[in-house]
Amino acid sequence: MRIDILTLFPKMFTDFSSTGIFQRAIENKLVELNIYNIRDYTHDKHHIVDDYPYGGGAGMVMKPEPIFEAVESIMQPEENSKKVPVILTTPRGRLFSQEIAKELAQNERLIIICGHYEGVDERIHRNLATDEISIGDYVLSGGEPAAMVIVDAVTRLIPGVLGSEESAKDDSHSAGLLEYPQYTRPAVFRDWEVPEILLSGNHGEIAKWRREQSVLRTAERRPELLNRADLNKKEIEMVKEKYENLFKEE
Ligand code: SAM
Repeated sequence: MRIDILTLFPKMFTDFSSTGIFQRAIENKLVELNIYNIRDYTHDKHHIVDDYPYGGGAGMVMKPEPIFEAVESIMQPEENSKKVPVILTTPRGRLFSQEIAKELAQNERLIIICGHYEGVDERIHRNLATDEISIGDYVLSGGEPAAMVIVDAVTRLIPGVLGSEESAKDDSHSAGLLEYPQYTRPAVFRDWEVPEILLSGNHGEIAKWRREQSVLRTAERRPELLNRADLNKKEIEMVKEKYENLFKEE
């Protein structure tokens, strides 16, 4: 997958792209990450990328010209540019989730625009972006952390990016449930013991315990997720016993 990021702060991506799983994905040519400085697409002496908002008000707004020019110039002329998702990071966008990460991971290319100041000119929202994504109901100073969140969640889902020792299939949210508790050595740390079942070597019982823990943990922390999770009858009874009134009446 090729990912192009448009930003005013390219250096923010230096460590991000040279660490851990992501670095390996780049080295193994599973992901290509290109960072573009929006300022490079200005034509004035001072490389101005923002201006005062029409109608007044606090702060500055990012100008449309450099961002349009950047996106248009990085699209390969021969490809059907309409097929490349152009994602604008914005607190006004659809709320990012594992489902959206899965959807984005199907693409061969992504372009992500990082806003700053009071955001970007509305014409970028309307006429350039094909998707607007928010990573949560709060406001960041810039779109860079949001772009990193999106890129990280998406690239983990590209086949081959996670090594055989890692797996996304049991991760929280991958099956609509939060992940079960994980332990590593030592078996006893400050009197806190690893649950005996995990030391038993009985893989069937371990899988059963993990599933149960996943269901209970989700019920306790994110009960709203259970309405969409695929629970069997026994699991529903188990949750009902512990947490009354959790399931919506039909
Ligand atoms: N005035 C804008 C508003 O209220 O919608 C917020 C602008 S914010 C200070 C600057 C930039 O940070 C945005 O253009 C966007 O790129 C990014 N940003 C802020 N919060 C975000 C969020 N929750 N999700 C994704 N991007 C966000």
